Amino acid sequence: GAVVHWFKSDLRTRDNKALHMASEKAKEKGVPLIAMYIVSPQDFEAHLTAPARVDFILRTLEVLKEVLAQLNIPLHIATVEKRKAIPGRIVELLKEWGASHLFANMEYEVDELRREAGLVRSCLENDIAMDVVPDTCVVAAGEIENSTGKQYSVFTPWFRSWIAYIHGNGHVLDIFEPPGMNPDSARDRFADLFESKIPDAPDGKKLSDEEKKRFSSMWPAGEHEAHRRLNKFCEERIGSYIAQRDLPGVAATSALSVHLASGTLNARTAVSSALAHSHTPRLDGGSTGMQTWIREIGWRDFYKHVLAHWPYICMNKPWKATYSNIEWEYNPAHFEAWCAGRTGYPIVDAAMRQLRHCGYMHNRCRMIAASFLAKHLLVDWRMGERYFMEHLIDGDFASNNGGWGYCASTGVDPQPYFRIFNPLLQSEKFDADGVYIRTWVKELEGIGGRAVHDPYGRGKGEEARLAGYSERIVPHKESRERCIERYQEGIGGT
Ligand code: FAD
Repeated sequence: GAVVHWFKSDLRTRDNKALHMASEKAKEKGVPLIAMYIVSPQDFEAHLTAPARVDFILRTLEVLKEVLAQLNIPLHIATVEKRKAIPGRIVELLKEWGASHLFANMEYEVDELRREAGLVRSCLENDIAMDVVPDTCVVAAGEIENSTGKQYSVFTPWFRSWIAYIHGNGHVLDIFEPPGMNPDSARDRFADLFESKIPDAPDGKKLSDEEKKRFSSMWPAGEHEAHRRLNKFCEERIGSYIAQRDLPGVAATSALSVHLASGTLNARTAVSSALAHSHTPRLDGGSTGMQTWIREIGWRDFYKHVLAHWPYICMNKPWKATYSNIEWEYNPAHFEAWCAGRTGYPIVDAAMRQLRHCGYMHNRCRMIAASFLAKHLLVDWRMGERYFMEHLIDGDFASNNGGWGYCASTGVDPQPYFRIFNPLLQSEKFDADGVYIRTWVKELEGIGGRAVHDPYGRGKGEEARLAGYSERIVPHKESRERCIERYQEGIGGT
Protein backbone atom coordinates (compact mmCIF):
# COMPACT_ATOMS: atom_id res chain seq x y z
CA GLY A 1 0.00 0.00 0.00
CA ALA A 2 0.86 3.68 -0.02
CA VAL A 3 -0.62 7.07 0.85
CA VAL A 4 -0.39 9.90 -1.69
CA HIS A 5 -0.27 13.69 -1.31
CA TRP A 6 -1.13 15.69 -4.41
CA PHE A 7 0.73 19.01 -4.49
CA LYS A 8 -0.99 21.90 -6.26
CA SER A 9 -0.55 25.50 -5.14
CA ASP A 10 0.88 24.34 -1.80
CA LEU A 11 4.49 23.70 -2.81
CA ARG A 12 5.97 23.34 0.67
CA THR A 13 6.60 20.72 3.34
CA ARG A 14 6.22 23.01 6.35
CA ASP A 15 2.81 23.91 7.69
CA ASN A 16 0.95 22.01 4.99
CA LYS A 17 -2.24 20.53 6.40
CA ALA A 18 -3.04 17.88 3.78
CA LEU A 19 0.60 16.78 3.56
CA HIS A 20 0.74 16.50 7.32
CA MET A 21 -2.47 14.43 7.35
CA ALA A 22 -1.11 12.21 4.60
CA SER A 23 2.07 11.63 6.56
CA GLU A 24 0.10 10.73 9.71
CA LYS A 25 -2.07 8.32 7.72
CA ALA A 26 0.98 6.66 6.19
CA LYS A 27 2.51 6.23 9.62
CA GLU A 28 -0.72 4.80 11.03
CA LYS A 29 -0.98 2.28 8.20
CA GLY A 30 2.74 1.52 8.17
CA VAL A 31 3.04 2.36 4.45
CA PRO A 32 5.17 4.91 2.55
CA LEU A 33 4.06 8.38 1.53
CA ILE A 34 4.31 9.37 -2.14
CA ALA A 35 4.09 12.94 -3.36
CA MET A 36 2.78 13.86 -6.78
CA TYR A 37 2.47 16.96 -8.93
CA ILE A 38 0.57 17.20 -12.21
CA VAL A 39 1.79 19.63 -14.86
CA SER A 40 -1.13 20.59 -17.06
CA PRO A 41 -0.14 22.72 -20.07
CA GLN A 42 -3.81 23.26 -20.85
CA ASP A 43 -4.41 24.65 -17.35
CA PHE A 44 -1.48 27.03 -17.74
CA GLU A 45 -3.04 28.17 -21.00
CA ALA A 46 -6.61 28.44 -19.72
CA HIS A 47 -5.55 30.25 -16.57
CA LEU A 48 -3.28 32.66 -18.44
CA THR A 49 -0.38 31.67 -16.19
CA ALA A 50 2.55 34.01 -16.85
CA PRO A 51 5.67 32.32 -18.26
CA ALA A 52 7.58 33.79 -15.30
CA ARG A 53 5.14 32.07 -12.97
CA VAL A 54 5.41 28.74 -14.80
CA ASP A 55 9.18 29.05 -14.51
CA PHE A 56 8.88 29.84 -10.79
CA ILE A 57 6.69 26.77 -10.25
CA LEU A 58 9.12 24.49 -12.10
CA ARG A 59 12.07 25.90 -10.16
CA THR A 60 10.12 25.39 -6.94
CA LEU A 61 9.43 21.76 -7.84
CA GLU A 62 13.14 21.18 -8.16
CA VAL A 63 13.73 22.43 -4.63
CA LEU A 64 10.73 20.59 -3.26
CA LYS A 65 11.89 17.34 -4.83
CA GLU A 66 15.20 17.63 -3.00
CA VAL A 67 13.63 18.51 0.32
CA LEU A 68 11.29 15.53 0.05
CA ALA A 69 14.07 13.18 -1.06
CA GLN A 70 15.87 13.91 2.21
CA LEU A 71 12.82 12.41 3.90
CA ASN A 72 12.86 9.42 1.52
CA ILE A 73 9.65 10.74 -0.03
CA PRO A 74 9.55 10.58 -3.85
CA LEU A 75 7.96 13.43 -5.79
CA HIS A 76 6.47 12.12 -9.01
CA ILE A 77 5.81 14.73 -11.67
CA ALA A 78 3.41 13.76 -14.43
CA THR A 79 2.48 15.87 -17.43
CA VAL A 80 -1.13 15.54 -18.52
CA GLU A 81 -1.93 17.50 -21.67
CA LYS A 82 -5.70 17.78 -21.33
CA ARG A 83 -7.02 18.91 -18.02
CA LYS A 84 -10.13 16.73 -18.36
CA ALA A 85 -7.81 13.73 -18.27
CA ILE A 86 -6.28 14.68 -14.90
CA PRO A 87 -8.65 12.79 -12.56
CA GLY A 88 -8.37 9.64 -14.70
CA ARG A 89 -4.57 9.83 -14.79
CA ILE A 90 -4.39 10.35 -11.03
CA VAL A 91 -6.51 7.28 -10.36
CA GLU A 92 -4.35 5.23 -12.73
CA LEU A 93 -1.24 6.27 -10.84
CA LEU A 94 -2.84 5.56 -7.48
CA LYS A 95 -3.75 2.07 -8.64
CA GLU A 96 -0.28 1.49 -10.04
CA TRP A 97 1.21 2.39 -6.64
CA GLY A 98 -1.39 0.41 -4.70
CA ALA A 99 -2.44 3.56 -2.87
CA SER A 100 -5.41 3.50 -0.53
CA HIS A 101 -5.59 7.20 0.35
CA LEU A 102 -5.23 10.50 -1.51
CA PHE A 103 -4.80 13.83 0.27
CA ALA A 104 -4.87 17.35 -1.17
CA ASN A 105 -5.50 20.93 -0.12
CA MET A 106 -8.55 22.64 -1.56
CA GLU A 107 -8.47 25.32 -4.24
CA TYR A 108 -11.52 27.56 -4.53
CA GLU A 109 -11.50 28.37 -8.24
CA VAL A 110 -14.36 26.93 -10.28
CA ASP A 111 -12.29 24.73 -12.62
CA GLU A 112 -10.38 23.27 -9.71
CA LEU A 113 -13.54 22.51 -7.73
CA ARG A 114 -15.06 20.78 -10.76
CA ARG A 115 -11.90 18.77 -11.28
CA GLU A 116 -11.89 17.66 -7.64
CA ALA A 117 -15.57 16.71 -7.78
CA GLY A 118 -14.75 14.41 -10.70
CA LEU A 119 -11.78 12.97 -8.86
CA VAL A 120 -13.79 12.22 -5.72
CA ARG A 121 -16.17 10.17 -7.87
CA SER A 122 -13.38 8.23 -9.58
CA CYS A 123 -11.68 7.54 -6.24
CA LEU A 124 -14.93 6.26 -4.77
CA GLU A 125 -15.45 3.92 -7.70
CA ASN A 126 -11.97 2.55 -7.15
CA ASP A 127 -12.19 2.18 -3.40
CA ILE A 128 -9.64 4.89 -2.73
CA ALA A 129 -10.27 7.32 0.12
CA MET A 130 -9.82 11.00 -0.75
CA ASP A 131 -9.48 13.94 1.62
CA VAL A 132 -9.50 17.52 0.33
CA VAL A 133 -9.00 20.01 3.14
CA PRO A 134 -9.04 23.83 3.31
CA ASP A 135 -5.57 25.23 3.97
CA THR A 136 -4.92 28.12 1.59
CA CYS A 137 -6.58 30.77 3.78
CA VAL A 138 -5.86 31.57 7.41
CA VAL A 139 -9.59 31.17 8.03
CA ALA A 140 -11.35 28.73 5.69
CA ALA A 141 -13.95 30.19 3.33
CA GLY A 142 -17.45 29.73 4.69
CA GLU A 143 -16.39 30.09 8.33
CA ILE A 144 -17.20 33.80 8.65
CA GLU A 145 -20.66 35.20 8.09
CA ASN A 146 -22.41 38.45 8.89
CA SER A 147 -25.24 38.85 11.40
CA THR A 148 -27.81 37.65 8.86
CA GLY A 149 -25.81 34.52 8.11
CA LYS A 150 -24.47 35.73 4.77
CA GLN A 151 -21.05 36.29 3.22
CA TYR A 152 -19.78 39.83 3.83
CA SER A 153 -19.19 41.91 0.72
CA VAL A 154 -17.46 44.78 2.56
CA PHE A 155 -13.93 44.28 3.85
CA THR A 156 -13.83 46.23 7.14
CA PRO A 157 -16.62 44.44 9.04
CA TRP A 158 -15.47 41.15 7.53
CA PHE A 159 -11.96 41.82 8.84
CA ARG A 160 -13.27 42.48 12.36
CA SER A 161 -15.02 39.11 12.26
CA TRP A 162 -11.87 37.49 10.87
CA ILE A 163 -9.84 38.72 13.84
CA ALA A 164 -12.57 37.70 16.29
CA TYR A 165 -12.70 34.23 14.70
CA ILE A 166 -8.96 33.72 15.05
CA HIS A 167 -8.91 34.97 18.63
CA GLY A 168 -11.97 32.88 19.47
CA ASN A 169 -10.62 29.62 18.03
CA GLY A 170 -7.32 28.90 19.70
CA HIS A 171 -6.13 26.36 17.13
CA VAL A 172 -6.45 28.45 13.95
CA LEU A 173 -2.83 29.59 13.93
CA ASP A 174 -1.36 26.24 14.94
CA ILE A 175 1.37 25.16 12.55
CA PHE A 176 1.36 21.68 11.01
CA GLU A 177 4.57 19.68 11.37
CA PRO A 178 6.40 18.68 8.18
CA PRO A 179 6.02 15.03 7.12
CA GLY A 180 8.05 12.34 8.84
CA MET A 181 10.70 10.12 7.21
CA ASN A 182 9.60 7.35 4.90
CA PRO A 183 11.06 3.90 5.65
CA ASP A 184 14.28 3.23 3.72
CA SER A 185 12.47 0.53 1.75
CA ALA A 186 10.54 3.32 -0.07
CA ARG A 187 13.79 4.08 -1.94
CA ASP A 188 13.81 0.64 -3.54
CA ARG A 189 10.11 0.18 -3.98
CA PHE A 190 9.63 3.52 -5.72
CA ALA A 191 13.10 3.94 -7.22
CA ASP A 192 11.69 5.10 -10.58
CA LEU A 193 9.62 7.82 -8.91
CA PHE A 194 12.76 9.26 -7.33
CA GLU A 195 14.11 9.53 -10.87
CA SER A 196 11.09 11.47 -12.14
CA LYS A 197 12.25 14.56 -14.06
CA ILE A 198 11.01 18.15 -13.83
CA PRO A 199 9.70 18.92 -17.34
CA ASP A 200 10.57 22.01 -19.36
CA ALA A 201 8.04 24.78 -19.61
CA PRO A 202 5.42 23.95 -22.25
CA ASP A 203 5.32 25.80 -25.58
CA GLY A 204 3.96 29.30 -25.28
CA LYS A 205 5.20 29.53 -21.68
CA LYS A 206 8.94 29.44 -22.28
CA LEU A 207 11.27 32.23 -21.17
CA SER A 208 14.30 33.40 -23.09
CA ASP A 209 17.68 32.68 -21.48
CA GLU A 210 17.99 36.30 -20.44
CA GLU A 211 14.55 36.26 -18.81
CA LYS A 212 15.28 32.96 -17.08
CA LYS A 213 18.39 34.44 -15.50
CA ARG A 214 16.65 37.67 -14.57
CA PHE A 215 13.65 36.04 -12.91
CA SER A 216 15.62 33.43 -11.05
CA SER A 217 17.95 35.98 -9.54
CA MET A 218 15.08 38.31 -8.65
CA TRP A 219 12.79 35.58 -7.34
CA PRO A 220 14.74 32.62 -5.93
CA ALA A 221 12.40 29.65 -5.45
CA GLY A 222 11.66 27.27 -2.62
CA GLU A 223 10.21 27.31 0.85
CA HIS A 224 13.54 28.06 2.50
CA GLU A 225 13.74 31.25 0.52
CA ALA A 226 10.18 32.13 1.55
CA HIS A 227 11.11 31.68 5.20
CA ARG A 228 14.29 33.66 4.81
CA ARG A 229 12.33 36.55 3.32
CA LEU A 230 9.61 36.30 5.92
CA ASN A 231 12.04 36.36 8.83
CA LYS A 232 14.05 39.19 7.38
CA PHE A 233 10.90 41.21 6.79
CA CYS A 234 9.64 40.57 10.33
CA GLU A 235 13.00 41.48 11.83
CA GLU A 236 13.83 44.54 9.76
CA ARG A 237 10.82 46.09 8.11
CA ILE A 238 7.48 45.16 9.59
CA GLY A 239 7.66 47.98 12.15
CA SER A 240 7.94 50.65 9.46
CA TYR A 241 5.48 48.94 7.10
CA ILE A 242 2.61 51.29 7.85
CA ALA A 243 4.66 54.41 7.11
CA GLN A 244 6.32 53.15 3.94
CA ARG A 245 4.21 50.47 2.33
CA ASP A 246 2.64 52.91 -0.11
CA LEU A 247 5.94 54.23 -1.43
CA PRO A 248 6.84 52.31 -4.59
CA GLY A 249 10.38 53.70 -4.58
CA VAL A 250 11.17 52.07 -1.22
CA ALA A 251 11.54 48.31 -0.66
CA ALA A 252 9.20 48.42 2.34
CA THR A 253 6.82 45.53 1.67
CA SER A 254 7.55 41.85 2.14
CA ALA A 255 7.70 40.78 -1.54
CA LEU A 256 6.19 37.49 -0.39
CA SER A 257 3.25 37.42 -2.79
CA VAL A 258 4.96 35.02 -5.18
CA HIS A 259 5.47 32.60 -2.30
CA LEU A 260 1.94 32.94 -0.99
CA ALA A 261 0.57 32.43 -4.51
CA SER A 262 2.54 29.25 -5.16
CA GLY A 263 2.21 28.04 -1.63
CA THR A 264 5.89 27.96 -0.76
CA LEU A 265 4.59 29.93 2.21
CA ASN A 266 1.32 29.38 4.02
CA ALA A 267 -0.61 32.56 4.95
CA ARG A 268 -1.09 31.08 8.42
CA THR A 269 2.69 30.75 8.88
CA ALA A 270 3.07 34.37 7.76
CA VAL A 271 0.62 35.57 10.41
CA SER A 272 1.99 33.40 13.20
CA SER A 273 5.58 34.45 12.44
CA ALA A 274 4.60 38.12 12.49
CA LEU A 275 3.01 37.59 15.92
CA ALA A 276 5.96 35.60 17.23
CA HIS A 277 8.45 38.27 16.13
CA SER A 278 6.31 40.89 17.84
CA HIS A 279 6.00 38.77 21.01
CA THR A 280 2.24 39.06 21.03
CA PRO A 281 -0.51 36.48 20.68
CA ARG A 282 -2.97 39.12 19.46
CA LEU A 283 -3.55 40.33 15.89
CA ASP A 284 -4.47 43.71 17.31
CA GLY A 285 -1.39 43.76 19.56
CA GLY A 286 2.18 44.50 18.45
CA SER A 287 3.18 47.47 16.33
CA THR A 288 0.78 49.24 14.00
CA GLY A 289 3.12 48.08 11.24
CA MET A 290 2.50 44.46 12.16
CA GLN A 291 -1.24 45.00 12.42
CA THR A 292 -1.38 46.66 9.02
CA TRP A 293 0.63 43.89 7.42
CA ILE A 294 -1.65 41.22 8.86
CA ARG A 295 -4.58 43.22 7.49
CA GLU A 296 -3.09 42.78 4.01
CA ILE A 297 -2.90 39.04 4.54
CA GLY A 298 -6.55 39.47 5.52
CA TRP A 299 -7.30 41.01 2.11
CA ARG A 300 -5.94 37.88 0.48
CA ASP A 301 -8.29 35.71 2.57
CA PHE A 302 -11.17 38.11 1.90
CA TYR A 303 -10.94 37.85 -1.87
CA LYS A 304 -10.74 34.06 -1.68
CA HIS A 305 -13.87 34.00 0.47
CA VAL A 306 -15.60 36.28 -2.03
CA LEU A 307 -14.60 33.95 -4.86
CA ALA A 308 -15.75 30.85 -3.00
CA HIS A 309 -19.12 32.46 -2.31
CA TRP A 310 -19.76 34.11 -5.68
CA PRO A 311 -18.04 31.75 -8.15
CA TYR A 312 -19.55 33.52 -11.17
CA ILE A 313 -16.84 36.17 -10.80
CA CYS A 314 -14.53 33.52 -12.33
CA MET A 315 -16.57 33.81 -15.50
CA ASN A 316 -15.74 37.35 -16.56
CA LYS A 317 -18.74 38.80 -14.77
CA PRO A 318 -18.89 41.85 -12.52
CA TRP A 319 -20.01 41.18 -8.97
CA LYS A 320 -23.21 43.20 -9.41
CA ALA A 321 -25.16 42.31 -12.54
CA THR A 322 -26.12 45.94 -13.30
CA TYR A 323 -22.44 46.75 -13.82
CA SER A 324 -22.59 44.74 -17.03
CA ASN A 325 -24.37 47.74 -18.50
CA ILE A 326 -21.31 49.99 -18.46
CA GLU A 327 -20.21 50.58 -22.02
CA TRP A 328 -16.47 50.02 -22.37
CA GLU A 329 -14.09 51.30 -25.01
CA TYR A 330 -12.05 48.86 -27.06
CA ASN A 331 -9.47 51.33 -28.36
CA PRO A 332 -6.50 49.15 -29.33
CA ALA A 333 -4.06 52.08 -29.48
CA HIS A 334 -4.93 53.06 -25.91
CA PHE A 335 -4.71 49.51 -24.64
CA GLU A 336 -1.36 48.98 -26.32
CA ALA A 337 0.03 52.25 -24.95
CA TRP A 338 -1.02 51.19 -21.47
CA CYS A 339 0.56 47.73 -21.84
CA ALA A 340 3.81 49.19 -23.15
CA GLY A 341 4.03 51.93 -20.51
CA ARG A 342 3.62 54.76 -23.01
CA THR A 343 0.56 56.64 -21.78
CA GLY A 344 2.42 59.89 -21.05
CA TYR A 345 1.51 59.56 -17.36
CA PRO A 346 4.91 58.81 -15.81
CA ILE A 347 3.66 56.94 -12.75
CA VAL A 348 1.44 54.68 -14.87
CA ASP A 349 4.24 54.06 -17.35
CA ALA A 350 6.76 53.29 -14.60
CA ALA A 351 4.33 50.78 -13.13
CA MET A 352 3.70 48.98 -16.40
CA ARG A 353 7.40 48.75 -17.14
CA GLN A 354 8.14 47.40 -13.68
CA LEU A 355 5.56 44.68 -14.38
CA ARG A 356 7.25 43.67 -17.63
CA HIS A 357 10.72 43.65 -16.13
CA CYS A 358 10.02 42.04 -12.77
CA GLY A 359 6.78 40.09 -13.16
CA TYR A 360 5.78 42.21 -10.21
CA MET A 361 4.29 45.63 -9.55
CA HIS A 362 4.05 47.58 -6.32
CA ASN A 363 0.54 47.48 -4.81
CA ARG A 364 -0.01 51.25 -4.96
CA CYS A 365 0.95 51.22 -8.62
CA ARG A 366 -1.30 48.23 -9.37
CA MET A 367 -4.14 50.42 -8.14
CA ILE A 368 -3.05 53.48 -10.11
CA ALA A 369 -2.47 51.54 -13.34
CA ALA A 370 -5.70 49.55 -13.06
CA SER A 371 -7.77 52.62 -12.27
CA PHE A 372 -6.16 54.44 -15.19
CA LEU A 373 -7.09 51.72 -17.68
CA ALA A 374 -10.65 51.26 -16.44
CA LYS A 375 -11.50 54.85 -15.65
CA HIS A 376 -9.30 57.21 -17.68
CA LEU A 377 -9.23 55.03 -20.77
CA LEU A 378 -12.56 53.32 -20.04
CA VAL A 379 -11.05 50.17 -21.53
CA ASP A 380 -12.82 46.98 -20.44
CA TRP A 381 -11.19 46.12 -17.10
CA ARG A 382 -11.16 42.43 -18.07
CA MET A 383 -8.48 43.17 -20.65
CA GLY A 384 -6.32 44.63 -17.91
CA GLU A 385 -7.07 41.81 -15.51
CA ARG A 386 -5.98 39.40 -18.21
CA TYR A 387 -2.82 41.32 -19.04
CA PHE A 388 -1.78 41.40 -15.39
CA MET A 389 -2.34 37.66 -15.05
CA GLU A 390 -0.27 37.01 -18.18
CA HIS A 391 2.69 38.87 -16.67
CA LEU A 392 2.56 38.56 -12.89
CA ILE A 393 4.85 36.04 -11.24
CA ASP A 394 2.51 36.27 -8.23
CA GLY A 395 -0.65 36.00 -10.38
CA ASP A 396 -3.47 34.81 -8.19
CA PHE A 397 -6.99 34.74 -9.58
CA ALA A 398 -8.83 35.90 -6.48
CA SER A 399 -6.43 38.73 -5.54
CA ASN A 400 -6.08 39.91 -9.12
CA ASN A 401 -9.78 39.81 -9.84
CA GLY A 402 -10.48 41.44 -6.46
CA GLY A 403 -7.93 44.19 -7.11
CA TRP A 404 -9.37 44.87 -10.55
CA GLY A 405 -12.89 44.85 -9.17
CA TYR A 406 -11.82 47.37 -6.55
CA CYS A 407 -10.17 49.70 -9.05
CA ALA A 408 -12.74 49.42 -11.84
CA SER A 409 -15.58 49.47 -9.29
CA THR A 410 -16.98 46.28 -10.74
CA GLY A 411 -16.24 44.06 -7.75
CA VAL A 412 -17.62 43.76 -4.22
CA ASP A 413 -18.38 47.06 -2.50
CA PRO A 414 -18.12 49.16 -5.68
CA GLN A 415 -17.45 52.87 -5.22
CA PRO A 416 -17.43 54.20 -8.77
CA TYR A 417 -17.70 57.88 -7.98
CA PHE A 418 -15.23 58.10 -5.13
CA ARG A 419 -12.52 55.84 -6.46
CA ILE A 420 -11.10 57.56 -9.51
CA PHE A 421 -7.40 57.91 -8.84
CA ASN A 422 -5.77 61.10 -10.03
CA PRO A 423 -2.45 59.79 -11.39
CA LEU A 424 -0.67 63.10 -10.91
CA LEU A 425 -1.68 63.52 -7.28
CA GLN A 426 -0.91 59.87 -6.56
CA SER A 427 2.48 60.28 -8.14
CA GLU A 428 3.35 63.42 -6.17
CA LYS A 429 2.16 61.92 -2.94
CA PHE A 430 3.67 58.45 -3.13
CA ASP A 431 6.71 58.94 -5.36
CA ALA A 432 7.44 62.48 -4.19
CA ASP A 433 11.10 62.52 -5.21
CA GLY A 434 10.42 60.60 -8.45
CA VAL A 435 12.80 57.74 -7.61
CA TYR A 436 10.37 55.08 -8.82
CA ILE A 437 9.58 56.95 -12.04
CA ARG A 438 13.24 57.54 -12.87
CA THR A 439 14.07 53.88 -12.19
CA TRP A 440 11.58 52.58 -14.71
CA VAL A 441 11.10 55.37 -17.23
CA LYS A 442 14.61 55.89 -18.51
CA GLU A 443 13.50 58.76 -20.78
CA LEU A 444 12.79 60.82 -17.65
CA GLU A 445 16.03 60.03 -15.83
CA GLY A 446 17.41 63.46 -16.57
CA ILE A 447 14.31 65.45 -15.62
CA GLY A 448 14.90 66.99 -12.22
CA GLY A 449 12.44 68.09 -9.54
CA ARG A 450 8.68 67.87 -9.64
CA ALA A 451 8.49 68.07 -13.42
CA VAL A 452 9.17 64.35 -13.49
CA HIS A 453 5.53 63.73 -12.56
CA ASP A 454 4.24 65.73 -15.52
CA PRO A 455 7.06 66.85 -17.83
CA TYR A 456 4.84 68.36 -20.54
CA GLY A 457 2.67 70.23 -18.06
CA ARG A 458 5.61 71.57 -16.09
CA GLY A 459 7.88 73.17 -18.61
CA LYS A 460 10.11 70.19 -19.42
CA GLY A 461 8.24 69.16 -22.56
CA GLU A 462 11.21 69.85 -24.82
CA GLU A 463 13.55 67.63 -22.79
CA ALA A 464 10.93 64.90 -22.52
CA ARG A 465 10.26 64.98 -26.27
CA LEU A 466 13.97 64.84 -27.07
CA ALA A 467 14.36 61.87 -24.77
CA GLY A 468 11.51 60.14 -26.60
CA TYR A 469 8.88 60.33 -23.87
CA SER A 470 5.31 60.42 -25.19
CA GLU A 471 2.72 63.07 -24.44
CA ARG A 472 -0.44 62.17 -22.54
CA ILE A 473 -2.67 59.96 -24.64
CA VAL A 474 -5.77 61.36 -22.91
CA PRO A 475 -6.33 64.52 -20.84
CA HIS A 476 -7.00 64.00 -17.14
CA LYS A 477 -9.99 66.24 -16.41
CA GLU A 478 -12.07 65.31 -19.44
CA SER A 479 -11.34 61.62 -18.96
CA ARG A 480 -12.56 61.82 -15.40
CA GLU A 481 -15.77 63.52 -16.48
CA ARG A 482 -16.33 61.06 -19.29
CA CYS A 483 -15.86 58.21 -16.84
CA ILE A 484 -18.44 59.52 -14.39
CA GLU A 485 -20.92 60.05 -17.21
CA ARG A 486 -20.37 56.59 -18.60
CA TYR A 487 -20.81 54.91 -15.22
CA GLN A 488 -23.95 56.94 -14.62
CA GLU A 489 -25.40 55.89 -17.96
CA GLY A 490 -24.62 52.27 -17.15
CA ILE A 491 -25.61 51.94 -13.53
CA GLY A 492 -27.33 55.20 -12.60
CA GLY A 493 -26.83 57.19 -9.38
CA THR A 494 -24.04 59.49 -8.27
P1 FAD B 1 2.85 43.00 1.22
O1 FAD B 1 2.45 44.42 1.28
O2 FAD B 1 4.05 42.59 1.96
O3 FAD B 1 1.57 42.17 1.74
C1 FAD B 1 1.69 40.84 2.25
C2 FAD B 1 0.80 39.89 1.50
O4 FAD B 1 -0.57 40.23 1.67
C3 FAD B 1 1.00 39.88 -0.01
O5 FAD B 1 2.10 39.11 -0.36
C4 FAD B 1 -0.32 39.35 -0.50
O6 FAD B 1 -0.37 37.94 -0.42
C5 FAD B 1 -1.31 39.93 0.50
N1 FAD B 1 -1.88 41.17 -0.03
C6 FAD B 1 -1.39 42.42 0.09
N2 FAD B 1 -2.21 43.31 -0.49
C7 FAD B 1 -3.24 42.61 -0.99
C8 FAD B 1 -4.41 42.97 -1.69
N3 FAD B 1 -4.72 44.25 -2.01
N4 FAD B 1 -5.25 41.98 -2.07
C9 FAD B 1 -4.98 40.69 -1.78
N5 FAD B 1 -3.89 40.30 -1.11
C10 FAD B 1 -3.03 41.24 -0.72
N6 FAD B 1 -1.73 40.05 -5.28
C11 FAD B 1 -1.37 38.80 -5.61
O7 FAD B 1 -0.82 38.08 -4.79
N7 FAD B 1 -1.61 38.33 -6.86
C12 FAD B 1 -2.21 39.07 -7.83
O8 FAD B 1 -2.43 38.59 -8.93
C13 FAD B 1 -2.58 40.40 -7.50
N8 FAD B 1 -3.15 41.23 -8.42
C14 FAD B 1 -3.53 42.50 -8.07
C15 FAD B 1 -4.16 43.32 -9.01
C16 FAD B 1 -4.56 44.61 -8.69
C17 FAD B 1 -5.25 45.47 -9.72
C18 FAD B 1 -4.34 45.09 -7.38
C19 FAD B 1 -4.77 46.47 -7.00
C20 FAD B 1 -3.73 44.28 -6.44
C21 FAD B 1 -3.32 42.99 -6.75
N9 FAD B 1 -2.67 42.15 -5.81
C22 FAD B 1 -2.33 40.87 -6.17
C23 FAD B 1 -2.51 42.57 -4.41
C24 FAD B 1 -1.18 43.26 -4.06
O9 FAD B 1 -0.90 44.27 -4.96
C25 FAD B 1 0.01 42.31 -3.98
O10 FAD B 1 -0.33 41.19 -3.19
C26 FAD B 1 1.23 42.97 -3.33
O11 FAD B 1 1.61 44.09 -4.07
C27 FAD B 1 2.37 41.99 -3.24
O12 FAD B 1 3.51 42.59 -2.69
P2 FAD B 1 4.06 42.13 -1.28
O13 FAD B 1 4.15 40.65 -1.22
O14 FAD B 1 5.30 42.90 -1.02
O15 FAD B 1 2.88 42.60 -0.32
